Amino acid sequence: MLKADERFFLIDCGEGTQMRLLKYGLNPARIHHIFISHLHGDHVFGLFGLLSTLGMIGRKVPVHLYGPHALEELMQYYSRFFGPLPFELAFVSPPENKNFIYESDKITVTAIPLKHRTPAFGYLFREKDKPLNVIKEQIEAYGLGIADVVKVKRGEDFINESGELIPNSRLTYPPFHKRSYAYISDTVFDPGLAEIVKGVDLLFHEATFSEKDKKLAAQTLHSTAAQAATVAKKAGVQKLLIGHFSTRYKDPLQLEAEAKEIFINTVGVKDGDLYSVPLKRLSGE
Ligand SMILES: [Zn+2]
Ligand SMILES: [Zn+2]
Repeated sequence: MLKADERFFLIDCGEGTQMRLLKYGLNPARIHHIFISHLHGDHVFGLFGLLSTLGMIGRKVPVHLYGPHALEELMQYYSRFFGPLPFELAFVSPPENKNFIYESDKITVTAIPLKHRTPAFGYLFREKDKPLNVIKEQIEAYGLGIADVVKVKRGEDFINESGELIPNSRLTYPPFHKRSYAYISDTVFDPGLAEIVKGVDLLFHEATFSEKDKKLAAQTLHSTAAQAATVAKKAGVQKLLIGHFSTRYKDPLQLEAEAKEIFINTVGVKDGDLYSVPLKRLSGE
């Protein structure tokens, strides 16, 4: 689950998603956008149950569902066997071109084509350009009204009641950087992905296998922990999260250690972990 722009975005919906939402105090009614990477069970088996629950708790507003074309077909089976949902299911499949699959006034989401055994997409969430920050003390000191603050945030100077011009630089400090999060699962090792997720703050990359099972990773179109770290390093991301570990490994820390040898700022994630991307001021102040 990603929280951005005061909205919750559910990214993939494996079996047990509802139980996890409940366990971690996340209200499913707050989900408006669901992004599905691909139609393998571990990414989609929880969808029917979750949508059914939303219907039962009286949802009326649409749920926006994003994913490969076949997802729309899958949802037709829901209607056929379990009756229509009492809310609209608005389906969007990643476009062929590079346009955003989702856009609000604050963020954009881009679909990232992945190489897997079935059509698959990663998703890149990125904040848009942000306005200048107004220094709180100066609002009071110079008597700025709400409309003035809006103008100053856009970079305008302020003229007070006595006609004195207060330069914008005295009222503001630089905008915060545009935070970004990329989700890549499932995929075979693809160094080309580094270009797409270049410089993101937080990258989740699947790491199904250990390096010793590299062949198996290639055969099943999955990645090893070291390969995930290689993409992160090449992309120059701030932090790498790895997961989607094969159950054959008793100790996922082993995979984390393998990744850390290549990219030190790696964390092997567990259910319930919470990661946030702190706001940073843009340089130039
Ligand atoms: Zn898969
Ligand atoms: Zn998977």
